[in-house]
Amino acid sequence: MQIGFIGVGNMGGPMVRNLLNAGDAVMVFDVASKAVAAIVVDGAVAVESPAAAVEGAEMVITMLPAGTQVREVYCGDGGVIAAAAPGTVLIDCSTIDVESAREIAAAADAAGLSMLDAPVSGGVAGASVAALTFMVGGAAEAFTKAEPVLAKMGRTIVHAGPSGNGQVAKICNNMILGISMIALCEAFTLAKSLGLEAQTLFDISSNASGSCWAMLNHLPVAGIVETAASNRNFVPGFATDMMLKDLRLAQQAANASGTATSLGAEAAALYGIFSAAGNGGLDYSAIIKMIAGK
Ligand code: NAD
Repeated sequence: MQIGFIGVGNMGGPMVRNLLNAGDAVMVFDVASKAVAAIVVDGAVAVESPAAAVEGAEMVITMLPAGTQVREVYCGDGGVIAAAAPGTVLIDCSTIDVESAREIAAAADAAGLSMLDAPVSGGVAGASVAALTFMVGGAAEAFTKAEPVLAKMGRTIVHAGPSGNGQVAKICNNMILGISMIALCEAFTLAKSLGLEAQTLFDISSNASGSCWAMLNHLPVAGIVETAASNRNFVPGFATDMMLKDLRLAQQAANASGTATSLGAEAAALYGIFSAAGNGGLDYSAIIKMIAGK
């Protein structure tokens, strides 16, 4: 299959590599020539514009920083929507605001094209070993066409409903994760202040009603959970700035829809302070340092 791929950074690069390994022909475009060079050595073909990436492609995939770039690449002059042939399936895997995702999908629809929003979880590690989770919004027919291609880059592919619902799933999931992490940081800090060992609290809570995914996988206290970044000086993992981006997108959507999310707002504020203090590159579980007052 010929695929146009736009945005070959930390995530897009390994995703393209998996498509190449599966035998697809991939035309890549990125404004950063270094990112393009890194994937051309593996067999991707570099092109000079989004329109050139779309030419002859049955499917177009984008993996860009935020809504602004996604709008530009799809809706700008010489963008994907203007260049794509009827029948091309467009898949945006970037994490962007729900409103932009729905507006861009509507513009694609008006041009007779089907578009899916398919943000991912799993990070660079998941992208590298084709183990991403895709949360997909858009028409069922387009999803059916996209699923086998997404399966070359991921392990779990879920159709979440109409356009924008992939982004909704992503920000709601990560709002749960951000709030859970702060709850863990507060509880383990309180336990320590009161003389309860972290290991003991973990042994009890991980088998009791306080257990959660973040506790079992990303415990912010070192020496207990093998997969936790706390064991490795909080090298991410999932960076604080990535968590902050998703929490802010959740707040944007909560405000736009008039939904009260007080704990989501508090989590966004706390991660904002932690990032502004220069910790944006640390794993999101490192926020225990701030919560513990260290
Ligand atoms: P990145 O910055 O490494 O890559 C983005 C790429 O897009 C860059 O190479 C950049 O040059 C390119 N780009 C920017 N504007 C462009 C334009 N107008 N035209 C063409 N190329 C353009 O970011 P990333 O870590 O790969 O993340 C990409 C997306 O995936 C983001 O939306 C992010 O939130 C999401 N995401 C990232 C992770 C992660 O762990 N890195 C995890 C899940 C989701």
